Amino acid sequence: MSRAEIVVDVAAIRHNVGLLRRHVGVPVMAVVKADGYGHGLVEAARAAREGGAEWLGVASLDEALALREAGDTGRLLCWLLVPAEDPTPAVRHGIDVTAYTLADLDRLADVARAIDVRPRVQLKIDTGLSRGGATPAQWPALVERARGLELAGLARISGIWSHFSSSEEPDDPANEAQEKVFREALDLAAEAGLRPEVRHLANSAAALLRPSSRFDLVRCGLATYGLDPAPGLSPDLGLVPAMTVRADLALVKDVEAGAQVSYNHTWTADRPTTLGLVPVGYAEGILRHAGNRAEVLVGGERRPVRGRICMDQFVVDLGGDHPAPGDEVLLWGPGTHGEPTADDWAVASETISYEIVTRIGGRMTRRYVDSDRSRADHEDRR
Ligand SMILES: *Cc1c(COP(=O)(O)O)cnc(C)c1O
Repeated sequence: MSRAEIVVDVAAIRHNVGLLRRHVGVPVMAVVKADGYGHGLVEAARAAREGGAEWLGVASLDEALALREAGDTGRLLCWLLVPAEDPTPAVRHGIDVTAYTLADLDRLADVARAIDVRPRVQLKIDTGLSRGGATPAQWPALVERARGLELAGLARISGIWSHFSSSEEPDDPANEAQEKVFREALDLAAEAGLRPEVRHLANSAAALLRPSSRFDLVRCGLATYGLDPAPGLSPDLGLVPAMTVRADLALVKDVEAGAQVSYNHTWTADRPTTLGLVPVGYAEGILRHAGNRAEVLVGGERRPVRGRICMDQFVVDLGGDHPAPGDEVLLWGPGTHGEPTADDWAVASETISYEIVTRIGGRMTRRYVDSDRSRADHEDRR
């Protein structure tokens, strides 16, 4: 154990993917971009595959290649190359790449001619997020060019996909509107002769809350890690948060009433109390906004953060208790021992749990545990 660490239970990831697959009834793409949402790219991917993920999804080419280097040989989609990146290694490694534009298709055709490998290409339609993808106005030309390349043996159009803007708000009419545009885009692609292996639209929230959007595959990021993409709205599947963040208590001390805490003295003790120093700060991705708002668990009790979060440390109110320096501080975890959750930190930081788990890091180390295996070991020993 190190002074401050992120503990990832790979059994939770395995379990969550299994639950998601059974619940949605279609194949699952586990999204492992951004270092597996802060859980570790390769380890998260491996656990997701063990849990039954037929696909993996990443944003960047580097992430996709890192998975291949780590030995993953399964279906893998990458969705955000930039013009300066050469897609050749992706094509060589059988990675599905996403084409947004005619220029993307032409580059992939050039790669096909150069290395004599047929790229697996997925087309993205922008159904209303106005992020990546061809607009409905650009779509007919994109599918026509794509079909032309298929007929010329220069590409295999393996998928067609899009992405929601508001899936965690299931009553937002944008969901219905986007799904309608997606269906129209699929019809046009079919008329042009395209027969993709997978058509997909849903992220975690849509996979859970909008069954009509599941098509051939759902892309689950947040839910893979056991977090709720639509807190309070999602059905309770029994997802288990995989991440626990813990630190050693660096220091415990008594202060008098009137003690002013941390930068700019935004908190003042109204009575004598004990303060505990936690050795992680915003350089580790603890959001500064959580100052005076978040809580941690020390000695079985919730302890409020007092004053501003600093770069390397923050202060909690131990309320007169005297845990020993070196005792464990749980910042967040699954909540099973009374500790806060990533959702609690999201509320305290006025953000979403996605940002809480993807930002944590800095000087913290990551450690992997497998609660299935340790349970098995335990049972073996008995
Ligand atoms: C990040 C991402 C996902 C995963 O979203 P979650 O809400 O975490 O399930 C799916 N699709 C695309 C295109 C993404 O960028």
